[in-house]
Amino acid sequence: MTDLTGKTAVITGGASGIGRAGALLLAEHGAKVVVADFAPLAENDELFAKLGIESRQCDVRRETELKKLMNFAATFNGRIDILVNNAGVGMVKQIDQVSEEDWDRVLDTNLKSAFFGSKHALRHMTHDGHGGSIINMASNAGILPRAQDPVYSISKLAIVGLTRSLGLCHSKDKVRFNAICPGPVGGTRMMDETIAEFDDLDTATQALIGASPLARALGRMITPEEVAQSILFLASDAAAMISGTLITIDGGKALGVPPQP
Ligand code: NAD
Repeated sequence: MTDLTGKTAVITGGASGIGRAGALLLAEHGAKVVVADFAPLAENDELFAKLGIESRQCDVRRETELKKLMNFAATFNGRIDILVNNAGVGMVKQIDQVSEEDWDRVLDTNLKSAFFGSKHALRHMTHDGHGGSIINMASNAGILPRAQDPVYSISKLAIVGLTRSLGLCHSKDKVRFNAICPGPVGGTRMMDETIAEFDDLDTATQALIGASPLARALGRMITPEEVAQSILFLASDAAAMISGTLITIDGGKALGVPPQP
């Protein structure tokens, strides 16, 4: 079993969905986990306390808050070993409907946060030469941009670029950068909000499942726990020589146009 005892992990957007599942799995494997979210959920309190998970309120769009978060996380064992830049928001709007505020909200949450989160985690990963693992939550839209949500797609394509660029810069520091490209993932606030936009929830759910060939074959969406398994792998020493990769967990959606039913 992967043993993360003695390691400290920070996960942004960890109150729900993929981040929450990742936080639970890393803690179950021995890591000291700090979850940061701007909308913490009281229903997590009992389970987080049982697993020793610290929950901090943090708006990842603000560099000052990210700096405070990383400094807090480093108080446990003097360093940070794992950072999961997971917080994200979606937005389905065409360019003529997008305000500057909309653009800033999506790009600041999905991209700027990962850059400045990495900046302040790096200090705590490199000061004694031990290195670390930074995992960015991209999306299927980071491989294949989608017509319905250009700003979201741009943010996720850019985070793939960030992963490769910073991976190149910081291999010398033994810090690995990798990205995960999931979708569609059920049981998340983001997916619930996406489906709620439609009049017929069942048809919308089936359309999302149908766009991913394996999801269609299995008759379900991907689960947050399935994505968490890749967080665990990339965080672990088993991935010690892996940097700049994308792990695609999209049921084959990025392979091409699936056969018609
Ligand atoms: P989610 O909405 O359940 O989780 C996102 C979390 O981020 C929430 O807890 C939210 O409160 C938090 N958050 C949002 N803005 C924040 C901010 N400014 N500061 C701090 N926290 C903030 O949805 P999820 O699906 O688990 O999303 C996690 C990541 O996975 C996102 O980056 C998302 O883009 C990505 N993703 C999700 C899917 C999917 O199908 N659900 C697919 C591909 C990628």
